[in-house]
Amino acid sequence: MAYKYNPGTLQILPIGGVGEFGMNATLYRYNDTAVIVDAGVMFPDTDQPGVNLIVPDYTILREIGVSGLIAGAIITHGHEDHIGGIPFLCRDLDRDMDIYGTRLTCGFIRKRLEEHRFDHQVNLHEVAAGDSLSFGEIRIHLLRVTHSIVDCVSVVVETPAGTAFHTGDFKVDQTPIDGKNFDFAGFAEWGKRGIDVLLSDSTNVAKEGYTLSECTVGDSLQEIIESSRQKVIVACFSSHIHRIQQIVRIAHELNRRVVLLGRSLENSMSVARQLGYLKVPAGVMANKEEIRNIPENRLIIITTGSQGEPMSALSRIVRGEAKQVEIYPGDTIIISAKTIPGNEKSVMRVINSLYRMEAEVHYEEISEVHVSGHASKEELKLVFSLLTPRNFIPIHGDRMQLVHHAKLAKEMGLTRSQIEIVDSGDILELADDKVRKIDAIEINRRFIEGDRFEELEDIALQDRRRLAEDGLIVVTLQVDEKSAELVGEVEVITRGFLLLSDDEVEMAQIRDRVRRRFNEMKRNERLKWEAVRPKIRSALRSYFRKRMNSFPVILPIILTVPRAGGTKR
Ligand SMILES: [Zn+2]
Ligand SMILES: [Zn+2]
Repeated sequence: MAYKYNPGTLQILPIGGVGEFGMNATLYRYNDTAVIVDAGVMFPDTDQPGVNLIVPDYTILREIGVSGLIAGAIITHGHEDHIGGIPFLCRDLDRDMDIYGTRLTCGFIRKRLEEHRFDHQVNLHEVAAGDSLSFGEIRIHLLRVTHSIVDCVSVVVETPAGTAFHTGDFKVDQTPIDGKNFDFAGFAEWGKRGIDVLLSDSTNVAKEGYTLSECTVGDSLQEIIESSRQKVIVACFSSHIHRIQQIVRIAHELNRRVVLLGRSLENSMSVARQLGYLKVPAGVMANKEEIRNIPENRLIIITTGSQGEPMSALSRIVRGEAKQVEIYPGDTIIISAKTIPGNEKSVMRVINSLYRMEAEVHYEEISEVHVSGHASKEELKLVFSLLTPRNFIPIHGDRMQLVHHAKLAKEMGLTRSQIEIVDSGDILELADDKVRKIDAIEINRRFIEGDRFEELEDIALQDRRRLAEDGLIVVTLQVDEKSAELVGEVEVITRGFLLLSDDEVEMAQIRDRVRRRFNEMKRNERLKWEAVRPKIRSALRSYFRKRMNSFPVILPIILTVPRAGGTKR
């Protein structure tokens, strides 16, 4: 595996977002100029406790000598899986960066950058759908698409070696809330001019038909809210400006007031309002201090927590920890979002608690309170036929989705050799109307912890996972400082471990094993103190593995004690 570039070709290097969900980033290079499209984060699984974010390790771009060629990053839209990695990109490349995005996208990026401290300058350039940009011999063209956040674009990368079309995230919404339409004409025109390779959003490829328009959600939300005689709480994604806009409109029509709970929601609302993406009639919004003064049947609370996140506003309300809000029987709670795979349990926990409180609960499975922001099969086909690409690379999806999307491309008339299913790090080149994989590089992952955006060492991560799953065992040995004999009992303390401390038989066996291993060491080797702890640890590790297939974190502690009856210090 090595990096290479053949002069005069268009190189496409997916950095993330293929074969995984999140971390979208793709490098396009023509001779000595490159651009990156998107720089996103991935959210961790539940088997990565303490990790808040995962980002690609962009230092590889320095190692392969590409960093200096990057003229800028073009960002398709303001979702975290497309913008969240920008600070890490600058830090890893150790250079200033020019970033291009639409107005709202730049607004979200600006907010995100405020949360980071780093030495490099990010120059944000506001661009608009319909704009074209030049970087050396690369021309970039932006076309408007519709999605679950406003102000989204597809990116055309035009080079002397050929033209790539990068859709970004999209659905085909023919009645968008903001009235800004999907650029069908632009797509058709590029189709006519010729697209050599299409890279298209695979998220909903397995869904038949068309994704419903966002405005259908408005209708069902309106119906539900209208029939409620008490307060209504709606949980949704904080960046879903269209959804928030619809709730605000409904509130105004039904003479209710809207309160936001949750910091990310307040942030994105303030960005969207400042930039004029939200129409908020006077007097609709209220702040949380006013909640107690608003009659229950005049109140809509929009909140974070649609994924059952334990620290979110909704979860805190449900646990009775929110100062301003309590749930009463008959209140209406709407979870207006898709449950992201992996979060099902936490979401069900919240929903069950709400039922227990005798609330009216609406969520995707039982009410039409959410539609996807991604294109279903028929929309993917529509875009495909508008563009009639010569080659195809499915992106934005896990392996299964990429494979399904590749099948769809075959149905649309491409042959096997015109379709590439890729992994991050694959080096693809477009030359003579053909895309082929020429090599690959390895792109590592960084695990980012907490709000500090600091990196977790892999080993720390492993420890956390083991602590969470298998618990902790502390073994304390007292050793005579002169004779190096064990003194007294070996002490064993367990935390979060299946084995209960009062299982005397098991405890005796563990103590025995530690004692035996220690005495063996003492007999066979001259006792080196620094070797004792690792050896005890590995003896216990194999014991737990064999006996119960468990991998707890093991902490041996060795105390040297003065000889019994010796001089006291
Ligand atoms: Zn998106
Ligand atoms: Zn996305």
